[in-house]
Amino acid sequence: MAEQMRVVTKDIDVPGIDTLAVYEQHGGYQALRKALGMEPAAVLEEVKASGLRGRGGAGFPTGMKWSLLAKGSPKPTYVVCNSDESEPGTFKDRMLMEKLPHRLVEGVLISAYATGAKQAFIYIRGELALAARQVMRAIDEAYAAGYAGKNIMGSGHDIDVMVHRGAGAYICGEETALLESLEGKRGYPRLKPPFPAVAGLYGGPTVINNCETLSTVPAIIANGAAWYAAIGTEKSKGTRIFCLSGLVNRPGNYELPIGTTFRTLIEEFGGGVIGGKQVKAFIPGGSSTPMLPADKLDISADYESVAAAGSMFGAAGVIVLDEDTCIVGAVLRMTEFYRDESCGKCTPCREGTFWLVQLLERLEAGHGRAEDIDLLNDICDNISGKSFCPLGDAAATPIVSSIKLFRDEYIAHVTQGRCPFRARELATAGNH
Ligand code: SF4
Repeated sequence: MAEQMRVVTKDIDVPGIDTLAVYEQHGGYQALRKALGMEPAAVLEEVKASGLRGRGGAGFPTGMKWSLLAKGSPKPTYVVCNSDESEPGTFKDRMLMEKLPHRLVEGVLISAYATGAKQAFIYIRGELALAARQVMRAIDEAYAAGYAGKNIMGSGHDIDVMVHRGAGAYICGEETALLESLEGKRGYPRLKPPFPAVAGLYGGPTVINNCETLSTVPAIIANGAAWYAAIGTEKSKGTRIFCLSGLVNRPGNYELPIGTTFRTLIEEFGGGVIGGKQVKAFIPGGSSTPMLPADKLDISADYESVAAAGSMFGAAGVIVLDEDTCIVGAVLRMTEFYRDESCGKCTPCREGTFWLVQLLERLEAGHGRAEDIDLLNDICDNISGKSFCPLGDAAATPIVSSIKLFRDEYIAHVTQGRCPFRARELATAGNH
């Protein structure tokens, strides 16, 4: 099998790498030591020059984000790590926290030093119990070794880090809902502006970065911005951990240079489609990104190329749908997720996701009407761009993109009065 390019996941297979002793034997906390020997502004510039972009989904340049923090605020500055990984099709942050918790803690400490924050929080999705335990243990070890707390590594700088566990709401992955939750309130998104960089946690300037993003920072500081910027494409630097799922032989997390093609990811790393079948479509960045047809498998997996193909790189959660997958059924499952996770704050999303599920259920059951297909698009149009936070857009995306690509499948459900794929499954089962 082809080799991965391990930057963020370096040494992940070393036994005991989740412990401080083994992590130190493999260069752990040397990047923090190096950062503390630099001016905070120089650390920030290094991250900026590396071209690192946020790995949570939006892809905003990380160094730029740090530099946008409000200066001269009377309130403390905070660093918040968003480890509320809940996007269907993504499971990389979970792996990083479970297996390489010290790399995350080191990245959080470096980012706090660079931004002048004395307090950092790692917000972990409620269901990720092992990940939370691992990160909390790593923090305890870091405190005991003098990497966190007062006067870290004798530098005169104080940085505290703590874990906050979510309660299992997808919406808390939205950064302002996360801040509300962190403050002990219900996880409702906030109106922006003000943006968190100006008035975030407890009203203080706050930088919120994804877990993979912060776990990448130690490698950039240790090896230099130029080294990191040499990986990837001209505008999309570095590696990404692709979460490969769906109907492939070897689903899993694969760290590869940005710019690898989706075909290489699926065929060389994922072992191809189960049963040697063809890809019908794939979702390139997690369920909230538009699906793409199989003829886009050879595009470069980078922010620009995926956008040019009509989708988003998102969180690099690649979901593969094979030739026998019922698109209507798959989209129904995704829409049920968004209906269940809608926080209910705004009407288009709260009511619209409910209606969408009803329509899709009707179509999938074979009771749909031809006009339901345009009605789905119409409801999506009334949600997308008209909801309070990105979850509304996310809910509409699988439906709009699938109707655009596979309208014929929706029509077949109406004209045949049943799901053509389920009918085929039943017929095959009857032959055994
Ligand atoms: Fe809540 Fe949905 Fe509105 Fe976002 S779009 S605020 S999740 S109801």
